[in-house]
Amino acid sequence: MPTEPDTGYDPELGRKFIFVTGGVMSGLGKGITAASTGRLLSNAGFDVTAVKIDPYLNVDAGTMNPYQHGEVYVLKDGGEVDLDLGNYERFLGTDMTSDHNVTTGKTYKHVIEKERAGDYLGKTVQIIPHITDDIKRRIREAADGTDVCIVEVGGTVGDIEGMPYLEALRQFAHEEEEGDVLFTHVTLVPYSKNGEQKTKPTQHSVKELRSIGLQPDVLVGRCPDPLEPHTKEKIALFCDVPTDAVFSNPDVEDIYHVPLVVEEEGLDEYVMERLNLASEALPTAERDSRWRELVTRDRHGSVDIALVGKYDLEDAYMSVHEALKHAGIERQVDVNVRWVNSDQMQDEHASRLRDADGVVVPGGFGSRGTKGKIEAIRYARENDVPFLGLCLGFQMAVVEYARHVLGLEGAHSAEIDEETPHPVIDLLPEQYDLDDLGGTMRLGAHTTEILSDTLAHDVYDAGTCTERHRHRYEVNPEYIDDLEAGDLTFSGRAGNRMEIVEMESHPYFLGTQFHPEFRSRPDRASPPFVGLIDAILERAEVERGVEA
Ligand code: GLN
Repeated sequence: MPTEPDTGYDPELGRKFIFVTGGVMSGLGKGITAASTGRLLSNAGFDVTAVKIDPYLNVDAGTMNPYQHGEVYVLKDGGEVDLDLGNYERFLGTDMTSDHNVTTGKTYKHVIEKERAGDYLGKTVQIIPHITDDIKRRIREAADGTDVCIVEVGGTVGDIEGMPYLEALRQFAHEEEEGDVLFTHVTLVPYSKNGEQKTKPTQHSVKELRSIGLQPDVLVGRCPDPLEPHTKEKIALFCDVPTDAVFSNPDVEDIYHVPLVVEEEGLDEYVMERLNLASEALPTAERDSRWRELVTRDRHGSVDIALVGKYDLEDAYMSVHEALKHAGIERQVDVNVRWVNSDQMQDEHASRLRDADGVVVPGGFGSRGTKGKIEAIRYARENDVPFLGLCLGFQMAVVEYARHVLGLEGAHSAEIDEETPHPVIDLLPEQYDLDDLGGTMRLGAHTTEILSDTLAHDVYDAGTCTERHRHRYEVNPEYIDDLEAGDLTFSGRAGNRMEIVEMESHPYFLGTQFHPEFRSRPDRASPPFVGLIDAILERAEVERGVEA
């Protein structure tokens, strides 16, 4: 039976939608602006969720290079998604699912599969209405059960790939009731040589939006400083919005301060007003103020962490960096991250490593930089420097120990050296016969059993932990007895999979096969990261005692 167009529209639901587009150029931080608005609405008592639209043809971000696009964020359900979803989870404090990342790959795949199944029998399958209907259905389903859904369209207005989405949003707004949909457009307001804030790029991008039938309700100007009153007036005049619908988003030293800046400008109040939510919002004095307290907490001192990776793009390690910041908030210290390039361990990067108080070796794929990672781990192990290894960092810690403590020459991960005589890290058994590489790793939340009387047990203060995974290789069961004969213990396991490793004679040497950074939140720091900071502070305490 041919199906009726399914756009998910239900007039009874009465939800509110904030659509966020970007103009002039990408990388303006519209995700952070959107997430900050969401945080404030949630402080005011609303249940807020978000959808990120990525107009690329990849079905998900799992096959994309993090050194070009930033990290692949992993959700509880195993979805491999754009890093903006990580920001939404951290700012909104919610767990999302793969359905909250809409991609062209997903949408077209679904529509084409339906076509093959005969669902559109007799019809010509087209971008309008079939693709646009599917986009609208996905947004409505992701919003189901919440009060406000923020939908961010990746890329910039005018991109060819983004067109079907903007058309879908236009139809969407047309179908919803007046006052249920708000369009926010984030653009760049650059300075001219003589220090003037220039509005032309904003005018052009709004013109582009209007040519496809979209009139923004709110404009946010990214500029190093707040927009001056006459800049706002000019934007309002040329873009046909009231002056109080124009907001600034100036540079801040920490992204967690953006909600405070946005609140100061009154963006949240304006949005609530326009969406007829103001009367339902909690009175200002009763709003949730935890965010403000967390991000403005006093700090007593600071610690330096060496993050050892392949540095083509710092965004490749975004969640690790954020998790370190969260642990800093928890322990009220500033965490300075020193980027140590594992490709260049001979030069100044080696001294950056030596000057750090702790070492983190994050996840990764492929052989480049592994030599430097192994050297960094050896340095941390031999010098009692607090160490945390994540996924590939955990695997390289096992390799380092096998080579330099057990004397297993040439020991390696089979991923990196297929010919290794000692594959201490080997392919997961279920991976042997796989043909497809997209979405086929061991992914998402799995529970680890933690042995009692271990560092891991202390750190988690629990007998289990449920953390997110993304790997194809694991500790080879044939080497477990040898590895554990000395100082090393696999203190976390899931069946016969080794999930956590630690070293008894070391003050803090912890490796996890999973990625604890993906569950870390500003108000719920991840235990292995807090443990690392604690070990550093303890060590400093001891050293101070010795000196005195
Ligand atoms: N490349 C390793 C694996 O597939 C580690 C993965 C990671 O660090 N996310 O197992």
